[in-house]
Amino acid sequence: MAKADPDKEKKQRREFLKQAADMLEEMKRDLSKEMQSRVKGETEGVKDEGRDTYDLASDERDREINFILNDREREKLLAIDEALQRIKEKTYGICETCEGEIQLGRLKILPFTRLCVKCQEENEKESKRLKTLDEERGYRRLVLTDFEEEGS
Ligand SMILES: [Zn+2]
Repeated sequence: MAKADPDKEKKQRREFLKQAADMLEEMKRDLSKEMQSRVKGETEGVKDEGRDTYDLASDERDREINFILNDREREKLLAIDEALQRIKEKTYGICETCEGEIQLGRLKILPFTRLCVKCQEENEKESKRLKTLDEERGYRRLVLTDFEEEGS
């Protein structure tokens, strides 16, 4: 009787998908809050905690935040936005590469992931391989350039 129940699993997945948008929104809020406090700290010193009254969603502030974001944060924010978009389009939780379902356990840890574990691993292997290739090519180019300069 303690067999894995596919219906139960489906139900758990549905439940999770219902919460996923809220979870992602919250992550986004946390991230921008963190960034905003950094922006505030750097541009105007200590500002009175105006909380929600400080909510000027202007382009200028977005630019400022963008400027101050490091790549990792920008990537994460982008990934969160994309995940929210996928929830709207009902493609959330589906692996972009193999179009299989992303494991629920993985989604819980990485709610903004676009790939299943298997494809993620492949992807990392591939980008490592490309990087190595790139480095080799860069090295070769360097050697070639030296050679050409000497020849002329
Ligand atoms: Zn996959």
